[in-house]
Amino acid sequence: MIILLLGAPGAGKGTQAELLARSLKLKHLATGDMLRAEVKAGTELGKLAESYMSRGDLVPDDVVIRMIESKLKAADARNGALLDGFPRTTAQAEALDTGLARSGLRVDRAIYLAVSEEELVRRMLGRGRADDTPEAIRRRLVVYRAQTEPVIDYYKGKGRFTEVPGEGAVEDIQKRLARAAS
Ligand code: ADP
Repeated sequence: MIILLLGAPGAGKGTQAELLARSLKLKHLATGDMLRAEVKAGTELGKLAESYMSRGDLVPDDVVIRMIESKLKAADARNGALLDGFPRTTAQAEALDTGLARSGLRVDRAIYLAVSEEELVRRMLGRGRADDTPEAIRRRLVVYRAQTEPVIDYYKGKGRFTEVPGEGAVEDIQKRLARAAS
């Protein structure tokens, strides 16, 4: 079972994905978390990624695709994975489909967590992460509209797509997601 959680930066994907992965017994794969771990460890990949992340830009497709593919191949993810923060471009979505097809797998559900722009900005300013400066937040939203919104249309066109309202109490949103994933 492969589930994608799509949504804008600040939509709450991380919080909800962790809960949902636990209850569905799926491996939670979050590209943002992976990249932050690389930055923290001071790896070459981390050094490259940091410059993009601090500006609010996307890390280049080839880097992120290689990173997620190696995690998806691991035994624990093969039984089922919940992808959070990936794919973020149509090139990533196409690479994911191709990679999964090679293993006889496919995206079973693409769930879009919908949150208004006003609320997104409020949440990002509130969480105080290193890359949550006002300039980077503004840039992330511009990049999201240009590069990631087309991914939503990509999955809408293929079916197996559900939109879930992402505002309200964490546990209410989680219930909606669990329903959408079933
Ligand atoms: P947010 O909630 O702001 O979307 P994430 O933790 O998902 O935070 O991602 C943080 C940053 O990591 C992004 O702004 C981007 O620079 C980089 N990143 C994460 N996932 C991807 C991806 N799939 N492709 C390119 N860059 C990514």
